[in-house]
Amino acid sequence: MTFDSNPILDFANNYEFPEYSDQDGFHKVVAFGDESHKCPIYVKQVPPCTAGCPAGEDIRGYHNLLTGVEKSDNKWDDAWYRIVETNPFPAIMGRICPHPCESTCNRQHREESIGINAVEHAIGEHGIDAGLKLHPPGEDSGKHVAVIGAGPAGLSVAYQLRRKGHAVTIYDFNEKPGGMMLYGIMGYRVERRVLEAEVGKIIDLGIEMKMGVRIGTDVSLEKLEKDYDAVFIGVGAQTGRSLPIQGFKNRPETTNAIEFLRAYEIHGDAVNIGKKVIVIGDGNVAMDVARLARRLGSEATIISAVPREDMNCYPDEFEDAIEEGAKIEYLAGTLEVLENGDGVRGVKCAKMVKKENGEEGWNAKIPFLRYKTTDEIFEIEADMVVASIGQTTDMKGFEDSIHEKTSLLKLDKNLRVVGKENVFGGGDALKVDLITTAVGHGRKAADSIDAFLHGLALPQEQYKSVIKVKEQDINYFFHSQQVKRKHNVAENIVGNHDEVLEVLTKEQAEEESKRCMSCGLCFDCNQCAAFCPQDAISRYRKNPIGEVMYTHYTKCVGCHLCSLVCPTGYIQMGMGEGL
Ligand SMILES: Cc1cc2nc3c(=O)[nH]c(=O)nc-3n(C[C@H](O)[C@H](O)[C@H](O)COP(=O)(O)OP(=O)(O)OC[C@H]3O[C@@H](n4cnc5c(N)ncnc54)[C@H](O)[C@@H]3O)c2cc1C
Ligand code: SF4
Ligand code: SF4
Ligand code: SF4
Repeated sequence: MTFDSNPILDFANNYEFPEYSDQDGFHKVVAFGDESHKCPIYVKQVPPCTAGCPAGEDIRGYHNLLTGVEKSDNKWDDAWYRIVETNPFPAIMGRICPHPCESTCNRQHREESIGINAVEHAIGEHGIDAGLKLHPPGEDSGKHVAVIGAGPAGLSVAYQLRRKGHAVTIYDFNEKPGGMMLYGIMGYRVERRVLEAEVGKIIDLGIEMKMGVRIGTDVSLEKLEKDYDAVFIGVGAQTGRSLPIQGFKNRPETTNAIEFLRAYEIHGDAVNIGKKVIVIGDGNVAMDVARLARRLGSEATIISAVPREDMNCYPDEFEDAIEEGAKIEYLAGTLEVLENGDGVRGVKCAKMVKKENGEEGWNAKIPFLRYKTTDEIFEIEADMVVASIGQTTDMKGFEDSIHEKTSLLKLDKNLRVVGKENVFGGGDALKVDLITTAVGHGRKAADSIDAFLHGLALPQEQYKSVIKVKEQDINYFFHSQQVKRKHNVAENIVGNHDEVLEVLTKEQAEEESKRCMSCGLCFDCNQCAAFCPQDAISRYRKNPIGEVMYTHYTKCVGCHLCSLVCPTGYIQMGMGEGL
């Protein structure tokens, strides 16, 4: 046998072992002469991407399917089914989730995190193109749950409850389901065909939809509590904040971001907006308003009280808004909406500066509070002013389920309303956040509701060990850059509502998946076997994922080499006999 062209052995022969003190965990070696009493054991751990995804997707799982590490006869279908276990909106969230999972991905310690969101997008698109259906509902349990709100939280809980065999009726005051995914997030970010497809798959599981009904006013929460076995409150945060400055309130030329975006979704191009729109705010929603105003043919100026580095929006959202022609005025504090007999003519602003060290609020958590106005006054022209300074809940009729001060739901760790037995909740009504968070709340609430309906104790959160990068040998992986999606900036933005983000091809998505380091689970690289000086490790390639490598403990001398070279951290040294 010749070893000339064996890359694993080449690597093994040239491998430089880390200095004794450099390698974390080395100090734990329990060695006696040429033997130790520690043996390799295989421990599956949660990868940090999954720990960082509020929806709890098995991200490593779908990458391993696409790369073939996990065997499958139809890897793209299986990858879709893997995602929708926890998140029924891969095509939607693949487009607009700000991907907190990528900020936790261990690959960033090599060079750049995995483009998880881009791969999710491609898998979601496959699910739609291939017409995949969600698994059918479970066996009828005879129980019936009312869900208030057809946003991502309500749809997620409804989906998971149907899987468990419970009947579900959703109530929503809007005409169409989707919540903020439809009435807040515009078509150039998520095409309506995508929204309809993924929401439709859930409703097709046999969910009764009662649209145009406002719970709390049209029908009381108390009535639902009596009529149904359980209730879920997923009413979101529907009220945009108004700007507390002179001249802002009660006029047709001023509004808030939520109303502005919603009006376009309902009325389309017939919506009446000014020629010069000012958006006050520095978050993602302010970018959305400016970008829609540009598409409707208006000039858009974003007024930010803070400089770029302290703005609350994500870099992509900011860059897209600027590329689409939005202007920005930094360090401007708004004082008054100005008028001229016919309507609004502009906004009076004061220049803002950073507070001196030690001044009240100079180190406040919220960046805006670290700045103060000066006497330098200036005006910006506009005929419409949109406040984009956050949103809050409208809890009329839900007073007995909320915190008085915050108007957010008062829930325990099982997402059950404190003091009520059969009422649960989640989503923005609990914490104004992201779609992925609302989806995660929906799934967890469904587990709680299911246990409650079966008369069982509500589930306890299990401790799960998350693999740390220092437990892996990431030098095993060659450097490679993320495969990026294209952002299409329209040459003429006016009237252009086409989607901005282009989906990766399947080949590109598979290439990106190959960068995944399978943190915390064996991906059959054979490093351990190649390095083992005792020839103690066998490989069973036909075994399921995670069960491919096997240590013969009669041969193992506990040298630790396998655990040191394992790129995934799947091997830990456990105590053997005698200790
Ligand atoms: C403009 C904008 C852009 C956003 N962009 C993103 C983004 O890019 N990515 C991201 O992850 N998140 C984004 N978000 C946040 C995201 O939309 C929310 O976190 C998410 O939609 C919350 O889901 P939810 O189901 O809790 O509430 P919602 O989506 O708000 O849905 C609540 C539903 O309840 C219904 N409802 C409310 N009260 C009642 C009642 N009394 N009776 C009956 N029905 C009721 C409403 O009609 C609505 O359909 C954005 C939010 C906004 C406002
Ligand atoms: S839902 Fe968001 S956080 Fe979760 S995997 Fe997708 S991009 Fe990442
Ligand atoms: S490399 Fe793969 S498994 Fe590891 S954190 Fe990133 S996406 Fe998850
Ligand atoms: S070294 Fe490779 S083959 Fe061995 S356990 Fe780790 S990932 Fe699996």
